[in-house]
Amino acid sequence: MKDKLRVGILGATGTVGQRFIELLDNHPQFAVAAVAASDRSQGKTYAEACAWRLAGEMPEAVRSLIVEAPEPTLDCDVVFSSLPGDMARETESRFRAAGYKVISNSSAFRMDADVPLLIPEVNAEHLALIEGQTARHDGEGFIVTNPNCSTIMLALALAPLDKTFGIEAVAVTTMQAVSGAGYPGVASLDIMDNVVPFIAGEEEKMESETLKILGRLNDSRGGIEAADFAISAQCHRVAVLDGHLAAVRVKLKQRAALEDVRHAFDSFTALLPELPRELKLHSAPEKIIIVRDEPDRPQPRLDRDAGRGMSITIGRVQPDAVLDYRFVCLSHNTIRGAAGAAILNAELLAATGRLS
Ligand code: NAP
Repeated sequence: MKDKLRVGILGATGTVGQRFIELLDNHPQFAVAAVAASDRSQGKTYAEACAWRLAGEMPEAVRSLIVEAPEPTLDCDVVFSSLPGDMARETESRFRAAGYKVISNSSAFRMDADVPLLIPEVNAEHLALIEGQTARHDGEGFIVTNPNCSTIMLALALAPLDKTFGIEAVAVTTMQAVSGAGYPGVASLDIMDNVVPFIAGEEEKMESETLKILGRLNDSRGGIEAADFAISAQCHRVAVLDGHLAAVRVKLKQRAALEDVRHAFDSFTALLPELPRELKLHSAPEKIIIVRDEPDRPQPRLDRDAGRGMSITIGRVQPDAVLDYRFVCLSHNTIRGAAGAAILNAELLAATGRLS
């Protein structure tokens, strides 16, 4: 653990918490020093409290950690939060007030004007909001969030189109995995042989978060000017374990040929030229967007683990008779859509000197 930043995980026993534990095992910069969960788990060892539901064994290094309350007494330098949304706001505020750097998965602070809603490849410049946030809260603590699991892949897919051609309108229809609902999530009797056309709050999050992420930073004191295109989302829960799929239609500001649209996806690197590949962030995938030309891809089972779960896969790129183009995109909801996203955010914060 020497020389590594010591991290605490809030909600460490849950679906996203277990991904944090898995992805942080042998991480070059971070070591798990503290774990917190509900009073059902507190006082037990992590091995006793957590029913491990990922493939492979629970990492040895965390088995004997004692699960604590999510209070700002945790002995660590940085906090990853995967707490339920309803309690995250109060708890994460307390950590920030106590001077912790909080990297959160929860929705609680995503739309706050002074909180970065960060995807390193898309809007690294929004990190400047931290300056205004720490000034307002009069301390060293801050909160940085990653977007909702479906929003991340949509924003990653739209970013190169927005940069190259401009976007006028987007209509997106998702088919989302059951692991997105946490554990035990959707009852098997509700989801088997079925599609549920409602996920509470999801459509609103996809619409508002996408516009914030693709918005322009005006100033560090709370100034993101939201992107101004029309966006409409419809979200569905389907009987898939991991991997959210989205069918997207987009109207562009400039005319574009099909091969130019395909090229914009395929050649996408971080929007700020120096970030993050050149910074060699450990969790950044070799290729951010993988374009597939087979007519029946992407598929959750075949494509969710692309780029160790950190790439998104786009296929079925075609002209559209209603808007200009349509395509299908897919990403791993608990890796690129949650724990992996937060860890990548932490790596960018560390690389830009904000975690020391
Ligand atoms: P989950 O499987 O239900 O896990 C919830 C975690 O929070 C568990 O560790 C649980 O501990 C803990 N917890 C619950 N109530 C608590 C309390 N009162 N005090 C302290 N800890 C408490 O949920 P999840 O899917 O991991 O989601 C966690 C967060 O990440 C949510 O905000 C969710 O919206 C967000 N998120 C999830 C996904 C996804 O794909 N699943 C993607 C993006 C974002 P116990 O084990 O002790 O009950």
